[in-house]
Amino acid sequence: MFHVTLICSDEDCAVEVEAWGELADVELLVCEGCGCTLQVLSVSEAAPATAALMRLPRRAQAPTRRAA
Ligand SMILES: [Zn+2]
Repeated sequence: MFHVTLICSDEDCAVEVEAWGELADVELLVCEGCGCTLQVLSVSEAAPATAALMRLPRRAQAPTRRAA
């Protein structure tokens, strides 16, 4: 999990946004103000041990499996 600071690619807007999540997810974010794509300003790991522990089991359970 990462803490990412992004900025709107529209120079007239230039809204800065903070987001937490996987890089693949935050790269899909768009500016709420104008809908332009956001450029990543900075990325830092934001993975408290508790968050990692909580996320892993949920991922493992995500695909619904049914016996036979
Ligand atoms: Zn914008």
